[in-house]
Amino acid sequence: MTATRSALTYDVFVAPEKPFVAPTPAVGDAPAWDPTTSTLIFGARDAVLVDPLMTVREATALADWVALHDRRLTTVYITHGHGDHYLGLPVVLDRFPDARVVATAGTVRQMQDGQGLDISLRTRFPGQIADTVPLPEPLTSPELQLEGCPILVIDTGHTDTADTTSLHVPDLDLIVSGDVAYNHCHMFVGATTPESRAEWIAALDRLAALHPAAVVCGHKDPTQGNPPAVLGESRGYLEYYGQLRDAAIPDGELFDAMVDRYPGWVSRQQFLILGAATTP
Ligand SMILES: [Zn+2]
Repeated sequence: MTATRSALTYDVFVAPEKPFVAPTPAVGDAPAWDPTTSTLIFGARDAVLVDPLMTVREATALADWVALHDRRLTTVYITHGHGDHYLGLPVVLDRFPDARVVATAGTVRQMQDGQGLDISLRTRFPGQIADTVPLPEPLTSPELQLEGCPILVIDTGHTDTADTTSLHVPDLDLIVSGDVAYNHCHMFVGATTPESRAEWIAALDRLAALHPAAVVCGHKDPTQGNPPAVLGESRGYLEYYGQLRDAAIPDGELFDAMVDRYPGWVSRQQFLILGAATTP
């Protein structure tokens, strides 16, 4: 018997930009973490949550918001192995203990290998992150199901880190991009290379080829909607940044050129743009 398909919809929770412990940078904004999203995709009865955020406070607010939707949370999906998107998982699981937590095998591997990054996040957000975070179950199929509708996992390779993914929900013409695309937020490009930027741009082109009606980015200016134009904007940002890097101009000029080109974009943190060498 064919499972009954039901109409899906989605809703987006944005955790506001939040300060963190670090020396005040010489250029750019005071240390703060980009506003970060979590997306709930739901039908008449069930729901899938994408990325359970980072701090205990924001994951608690997220769990309250999920509960307001009155759906059974069947699944939590994690798009990539950066702790700002998943360290809130135990808080969400406390509220929804029956939810299955899944990610690709690549993401699980990045989470296992990324313990050092988690330690640095715990130093930046002291006392604000759960002590222990369970690992997701690695997916054996690139497809989730929600009330008979497919949610497709797209392997996007090395974008802002290795083994990243996005989700495609054909019934909604929706892409939940993770950190493959950013929405009016300065992008985490400081750690990129010419090769990784080319791979990142190719991933953006593959998402654009799906002609989505909406794209929810992992980081967004909360005043913005979820237009598919973010894919082209992110591509343009990577290309312009690559041109400046190729020109080997000094860091200060590079920073100024990026914020001049994107004056309305939030999170002008120097470590995002200039890289690990200048990470506070
Ligand atoms: Zn992120």
